[in-house]
Amino acid sequence: MISPQKTFLAGQSKAQILDFFKSENLPGFRANQVHHWLYKQFTSAPVEMKNIPKNVQTLLNENFITSATRVIETQPAHDGTTKVLLELYDHNTIEAVLIPAPDRMTFCISSQVGCPVRCRFCASGAQGLTRNLTAGEIISQFMTLCKIHGGLPTNLVFMGIGEPLLNFEAVRVTVECLTDPDAFGFSPRRITISTSGITENIYKLAEMDKPFYLALSLHAVNDTTRAKLIPDAYRQPIAEILKACDHFTQQHNRLVTLEYTLIEGVNHSDADARKLAQIAIKLRAKVNVIAYNTVENSPFKCPSVATIHHFCDIVSNAGAILTLRMSKGADQSAACGQLRSRHLSNTTPKEN
Ligand code: SAH
Ligand code: SF4
Repeated sequence: MISPQKTFLAGQSKAQILDFFKSENLPGFRANQVHHWLYKQFTSAPVEMKNIPKNVQTLLNENFITSATRVIETQPAHDGTTKVLLELYDHNTIEAVLIPAPDRMTFCISSQVGCPVRCRFCASGAQGLTRNLTAGEIISQFMTLCKIHGGLPTNLVFMGIGEPLLNFEAVRVTVECLTDPDAFGFSPRRITISTSGITENIYKLAEMDKPFYLALSLHAVNDTTRAKLIPDAYRQPIAEILKACDHFTQQHNRLVTLEYTLIEGVNHSDADARKLAQIAIKLRAKVNVIAYNTVENSPFKCPSVATIHHFCDIVSNAGAILTLRMSKGADQSAACGQLRSRHLSNTTPKEN
């Protein structure tokens, strides 16, 4: 892998840009202009910074990585979502998704190239981890989506490729930049971080003074069933994860969401549904049931619509708050990581 010799321009704070301009004996107002291009116009490409002189543009290109993510494919699905395949400076690829709804626009972004957790049902984990994204790359990914959309989204979810809590520092810096009133000024209440349950970093998230939302990919109500879906390496005991989530809820006074991907013959018995409701009520969590979106070469299938509704009825009749997400745009590789997997199978995989 080519390692970055320079820092990424995306994600630089006002103070950092000012320091750079001072060190180059350039006027401070230029720093403000660059800062404006980054966080109000969503571009880190000096050539697009119209009021920046050519020599300063060159200087920025020489000192920073100014093109952190490049769009190589945009794939609109029939349901209105658009998947964007992005290439990084070292030619690795990631995915991001724009998810419109009548009253909102949600961006779904990636935190790693691949994923070390390797859940058996997920395309993102199929190849394992290639590398972490830097904060600059995650921020650049966000900026690219803002440019496509023409502004900030209403919501942002870390539910693309990767396990955000296994790239904690970069995700922390990204959230700081997103919510910095001097940068994007995005409300932390509109950010959801989804995790497969990396307990120690759920505690660290709880320490951050930001009221964002946490989603836990639970998928099973006991450790034996969960072990069928998530390999041992990063899977932690459900009881420990729920304890950490409870701590998060208490610190932030924010309801945790329990994501539960329904898979045929694995996790949808009546007893599973009752136990899920019990867990959710005890944790004061919402349940988000996701119909499994079939992934190439996966042994798993999505249950029938009747089975899904039956499961959901038991959970909500037991008193838990539940939302159901049916797979959207299956023809367009709707589940996370599928567009990238298809791209990888047509290109040479990148090394660790
Ligand atoms: N690594 C984090 C965030 C990314 S995955 C996590 O696991 O939470 C985001 C969500 O998509 C998770 O809940 C995951 O279980 C779900 N998911 C992954 N592949 C899926 C598939 N093929 N069908 C349905 N949901 C899937
Ligand atoms: Fe990684 Fe999440 Fe996919 Fe599991 S579901 S492999 S944790 S991205």
